[in-house]
Amino acid sequence: MKKMLSVIPAGAQSDYSAEQNEMIEHQLVARGVRDEAVLSAMRSVPRDRFVPSRLRASAYEDVPLPIGENQTISQPYIVAVMIEAAQLSNASRVLEIGAGSGYAAAVMSRIARRVYAVERHGTLARGARRRLKALGFRNIEIKTSDGTLGWPEHAPYDAILVAAAGAFIPPKLQQQVAIGGCLIMPVGSSGSGQSLRKMIRTGERSWLEEDLGNVLFVPLISEQTEPQSG
Ligand code: SAH
Repeated sequence: MKKMLSVIPAGAQSDYSAEQNEMIEHQLVARGVRDEAVLSAMRSVPRDRFVPSRLRASAYEDVPLPIGENQTISQPYIVAVMIEAAQLSNASRVLEIGAGSGYAAAVMSRIARRVYAVERHGTLARGARRRLKALGFRNIEIKTSDGTLGWPEHAPYDAILVAAAGAFIPPKLQQQVAIGGCLIMPVGSSGSGQSLRKMIRTGERSWLEEDLGNVLFVPLISEQTEPQSG
């Protein structure tokens, strides 16, 4: 019953489970992703449904793919590394900045209690919402806004994941991390290289910082302009 490819009409449901298993083994497990919760979450989310239909056959390759508005869905390995670093549990409340296609939010929602995600492009946010609804994800909320401001109404968060790179960590985001929680964000410019930072909030004003290695993300665009002094 497996090979009925000839009777599946174009655009209808098709089966990429072989490609997906291959991705889990070769891109994640072989590179050191060990967290079973992360691996099983990534097994349960069909990445091919989060990319434009003409790219579905490439959905499990080791690359970011275009999703419109000049943005990309992150490479699976990076999604796994960030989520593993966030150490989510089934009690976690998570904030993602840069929802894009909704893929990373979908993976996190399989582990965490609730995922809030902010996306600055209304078209992407609407697309992500529609897709997540069609796939039956119920514990994710997405809003269109400038994510450098966070989402204060639902703060504090056990984890904040930023899927776009900035020169510094936006202070408003830091304020929304729960004590004991963490913030993960690529810091740096696309020219000079970016490093993935993990900041663990150990107290009201104390943080532990870890460097998770070099990465390449699209830029975090802030709608806020810094007040000029003088
Ligand atoms: N997590 C996404 C990857 C998205 S790429 C996925 O799984 O598909 C990064 C996203 O960050 C882009 O969609 C971009 O529009 C968004 N972004 C950039 N700056 C932002 C900002 N200030 N606030 C919210 N979203 C932002």
